[in-house]
Amino acid sequence: MNNDHMIRAITGNEEVRAFAVTSGNLVEEARRIHANSPIATAALGRTLSAALMMGDMLKNEKDLITIHIQGDGPLKQILATANMNGEVKGYVADPSVVLPPNKQGHLNVGGGIGKGTLTVIKDYGLKEPYVSQVPLVTGEIAEDLTYYYAQSEQTPTAIGLGVLMNKDVTVNCAGGFIVQLMPAAHEKTIAKLEENLKKVTSVTEILRERQDPEDLLRVVLDGMDMKVLGSKDVRFACHCSREKGMSAIAALGKKEIEEMIQKGEDVHVNCEFCGKVYTYGKKDMEDILARTQNK
Ligand code: ZN
Repeated sequence: MNNDHMIRAITGNEEVRAFAVTSGNLVEEARRIHANSPIATAALGRTLSAALMMGDMLKNEKDLITIHIQGDGPLKQILATANMNGEVKGYVADPSVVLPPNKQGHLNVGGGIGKGTLTVIKDYGLKEPYVSQVPLVTGEIAEDLTYYYAQSEQTPTAIGLGVLMNKDVTVNCAGGFIVQLMPAAHEKTIAKLEENLKKVTSVTEILRERQDPEDLLRVVLDGMDMKVLGSKDVRFACHCSREKGMSAIAALGKKEIEEMIQKGEDVHVNCEFCGKVYTYGKKDMEDILARTQNK
């Protein structure tokens, strides 16, 4: 049963916009694909959930948003890419990391990521994507993205993200919310929002019962006359293909491809996002060589 989905909403006075997502199934799928440890699952799950909501803010069909977290902790880096159709993919550089719990007894995602940078890349299909980078604040991801919105987009934002694991280390539930103040927001609205946010101590505590993103926003936007503007299904999806793998080999250049053919071994291209492996034999490699223009 896949009930992963995302909603967007606005308050009655139109001073706050909000996004919320449940992503337990797709975070579990990512865990299986990458054989992620619990801490890698939590780190990737939070990032995938955030990327989906940020993807919902995109305007055009082909636009892509990528969150790239680079840290000096053992997880090393996390990458997640989403589009506006509710599709997301991603991976953690080292999915095998195991760390003791943090002081609160939770998975130590901040310790796994460490100090470093958060980069948001918006690809609108133009020559150059928009790239914006901020230092990591805590490595817990929600705080880091909140800081990103304040610094890079000057938008006051509150973000909550969570992944709850079962005892058998599968995913129980996952998801999160993003709320943003519109420029015209009044003090009264801000105060009410702050009061509501204090009630959200755990995203997964709210989600685990029914896995409905509306439950999250009902707490966050309590007493603010929330209107749900739209809902869409979300999924883990990778658009890699045999053809794209061939282009990746072609990009290595003629000389390299000739050497590979001479070795006479099959060439494998791994997709880091979904774990698929594409294998190319001698005939494939000769085809690639024939259409490779560069030296
Ligand atoms: Zn793939």
